[in-house]
Amino acid sequence: MEIVIVGGGIVGTAIASRLGPTDHDVTLVERSSVGGETTAASAGIVMRSAVSPDPTTLSLRERSRSIYDELFDTGAVDSTRTGTLYVAETEAFADRLADAARVLPEHGIEARVVDGEDLEQLGIDPGALTHLKGDSRTLEQPGDDTGTPEQPGDDPEATDRNAVDAVGAIRALYTPDDQLCEPVDLSTWFADRARECGVGIRTGETVTAVETRSSSVSSVETDHDRLEADAVVNAAGPWAPALNAMVGVSLPLRHTLGPMVELEGDGSVDHPVTILESKRYVRPVSASMGSRSSEPESEMERSSGRSDAERSSSTERSSGPDTGRVWVGKYETAYGDGHRYDPDDVAVPASFRDSAPAMATLAGLEDPSIVDEWVGLRTVTPDGLPLVGETDVSGFVVACGMTGQGITVAPAVADVVKAVLEEPDDGDDFDRTLLEALSPDRF
Ligand SMILES: Cc1cc2nc3c(=O)[nH]c(=O)nc-3n(C[C@H](O)[C@H](O)[C@H](O)COP(=O)(O)OP(=O)(O)OC[C@H]3O[C@@H](n4cnc5c(N)ncnc54)[C@H](O)[C@@H]3O)c2cc1C
Repeated sequence: MEIVIVGGGIVGTAIASRLGPTDHDVTLVERSSVGGETTAASAGIVMRSAVSPDPTTLSLRERSRSIYDELFDTGAVDSTRTGTLYVAETEAFADRLADAARVLPEHGIEARVVDGEDLEQLGIDPGALTHLKGDSRTLEQPGDDTGTPEQPGDDPEATDRNAVDAVGAIRALYTPDDQLCEPVDLSTWFADRARECGVGIRTGETVTAVETRSSSVSSVETDHDRLEADAVVNAAGPWAPALNAMVGVSLPLRHTLGPMVELEGDGSVDHPVTILESKRYVRPVSASMGSRSSEPESEMERSSGRSDAERSSSTERSSGPDTGRVWVGKYETAYGDGHRYDPDDVAVPASFRDSAPAMATLAGLEDPSIVDEWVGLRTVTPDGLPLVGETDVSGFVVACGMTGQGITVAPAVADVVKAVLEEPDDGDDFDRTLLEALSPDRF
């Protein structure tokens, strides 16, 4: 079979490396560079845990994990095991975290509830947390970079007492097994393995049309060439709806904006990824993995609309032994919060940029300032699960709608695509319930 994969992000390259050793003739077409778009914009967290784990998500994560463990343990791709801390801002969420702490260990995932007093040991400033906790105003109000909930005229001693009480009341879930990595390295690793198996990886080439004959795909047009195809795999990330439209397929896919800023401040950084209930998070930048502000500009940064002046100011502050760096991001994964953005025209909202320094103080950074910023799109579905399977157009297979977990689940998604294109053999331990759970027919 001649198979064309459209998109060379983490999903397309993982699929290419999975299909490479088969007898199929596989070509991957990527309009920019391998892993240079949403994959490069991501936080690079390979998640084992989840606050409300559903069986499909757990199965995908478990399957991916066995592949990633091999890459990370052998040092083929650098990683750091920082763990994740989920922090409740309401009693209801604290109860959900307590439930997760009971359920996750049943699936072999280490998890425990921690309180404010344990946080300091994990490298998080509980005082900063009490100021941020429940104060989602920091997202909406430009200029309010403290997020302090105090009102003018408050008695400072009473405020101190409240802060101490509040520190004791913080509830968080700590899952030590989540890992950080550089997702572009992962995509490059997958692309290299695919090439070794004879997959053609074409970068700098755009798919402009997918042609069909009698409701089956027949070929792919690019801006350079025409490729015969018995099957086309849509792994175009946030551009997936545009590719679906080329063959008249319409699927429920929306986008949510994923802004990120990198901050540098005084103090060292050694803490888990910390995710607040209000969907803001702070992620340490490990010295061994470097920082984006010292890397060449990616396509995603170009599309974020930053001026040259902003970019050059991003490297003015030099790193030293007493400075630390973190990434601060915000995520929405609900379909109801989604829109259809133009993936080539997105930017970091000013209100988010203004609120980010307050989040960096969580990690104990003093006087944090922004040294870089970028933005990506998450592609979301109504049930939060990816869309993987053949569509009504025979041979047109989708692997999109990764929500906020494309880095985490890409190797498992590649297994599902392989199972869609050819029957899994008896010796394969493939979980067939995934085919139905992820099928585009479910909507
Ligand atoms: C800010 C942010 C943080 C995130 N953090 C995490 C995280 O910590 N952990 C996690 O698991 N997930 C995370 N995610 C989600 C994850 O990044 C995505 O799910 C994943 O990168 C999607 O990969 P992809 O290969 O589908 O898309 P992409 O990486 O966007 O790849 C799609 C590729 O298709 C190419 N393409 C599109 N149209 C065409 C065409 N017509 N012809 C040729 N090529 C085409 C594009 O150039 C692109 O390279 C995050 C997302 C964002 C936005």
